[in-house]
Amino acid sequence: MNASLPLARPDLLRTLARIGDRWLAADDGRSFPVRNPASGDGLAEVPLMGAAETRRAIAAAETALAAWRQTTAKERAALLMRLQARLLAHQDDLARLITAESGKPLAEARGEVAYAASFFEWFAEEGKRAYGESIPSPTRDKRLITIRQPVGVVAAITPWNFPLAMIARKVAPALAAGCTTVVKPAEQTPLIAAIAVRLLHEAGVPRAALQLLPGQGGTVGAALTSDARINGVVFTGSTETAQIIARAMAANMAPGTPLIAETGGLNAMIVDSTALPEQAVRDIVASSFRSAGQRCSALRCLYVQEDIAPHVIAMIKGAMDELRVGDPWNLSTDVGPVIDDEARQGIDAYAEANAARVLHRVWAPRQGHFIAPLLMKVNGINDLDREVFGPVLHVATFRADQLERVITDINARG
Ligand code: ADP
Repeated sequence: MNASLPLARPDLLRTLARIGDRWLAADDGRSFPVRNPASGDGLAEVPLMGAAETRRAIAAAETALAAWRQTTAKERAALLMRLQARLLAHQDDLARLITAESGKPLAEARGEVAYAASFFEWFAEEGKRAYGESIPSPTRDKRLITIRQPVGVVAAITPWNFPLAMIARKVAPALAAGCTTVVKPAEQTPLIAAIAVRLLHEAGVPRAALQLLPGQGGTVGAALTSDARINGVVFTGSTETAQIIARAMAANMAPGTPLIAETGGLNAMIVDSTALPEQAVRDIVASSFRSAGQRCSALRCLYVQEDIAPHVIAMIKGAMDELRVGDPWNLSTDVGPVIDDEARQGIDAYAEANAARVLHRVWAPRQGHFIAPLLMKVNGINDLDREVFGPVLHVATFRADQLERVITDINARG
């Protein structure tokens, strides 16, 4: 492990997988490196779990289900409140680890921990209110009542851009409902997952009710999503992967097994001549460039009414020049690196292929996986053939009488 990981409690860190009540290496001893996106340096090696280990984790989660589903909603809610407190008590160390392995600026990483913890509070409350229904009976001799039951073992497959919050958002509702879970974190961010699992276990989650399998999507993820013992899948990531998962589930799992998939898209914003430019520009720049644009909710295509466009675009350029791109450990940094070399190369290639459209670009460090925030001119959202997952904002202008058309175009892209 890299000694430079500055944690107040370095003993909390685990570089192993978790199955049943044990921390484990892969059966064949293989591992893979976790890298710091700002520098490219190795942070740690974690086990590269395989299909056989995945099957064992599912079996352990299945065994744990019998007791966990018998707990009352109130008992589970009390535990979830303790989990929230536990994450908040370690906010600084959790934030440092998010920054170290995802490159998210430290101030934002602290915000992510609070966001992650909030899911435990929310689902503690919601879990207690998982009411059934009473349905008017068509005959006098029958009563129709529905009750909600845990679906069973849930697979949680998570991305790297909110490496803690996306685990919390999947694990908290599953546990609140009485389900047990197997978590497959993104390849880039398994360390924050391990420390979170450790803290949640210490706070009282039954050991086998929460398993952790670092490894590749194509092996661990594929094994999880094609195993008939899995009763539900919750996923955040790319649309392509969601489609692969849906197909694997359809081929292998019971019909109707739920898949909850949160995927990408093209987010647009329309600024007409009634908008307050200062307020709009502040929100535009924050939405497009925070987390280096690596959020599925980031603004990708901005439409500005022609009459005010020169002024608004000049203000956006000015605000971009104020962005501090660099060391995510620095509290004044606004934009850190993108996640890895593959991401950097992809966005660089996109910028190069569309060089003629570039309206503005700001400075970024040359080493590490940094991308200079970019503003690009387009005719409209249909010039974007896909979501570019980085600090790239596209801007188009429209005449007031074209507003309906603009809205139709945006809606047509989903
Ligand atoms: P991104 O492009 O943002 O990395 P992905 O959709 O590839 O998004 O990854 C999101 C999560 O899905 C990661 O944990 C990844 O390992 C996992 N994953 C990738 N491929 C598969 C697959 N075939 N089956 C299940 N999970 C997968």
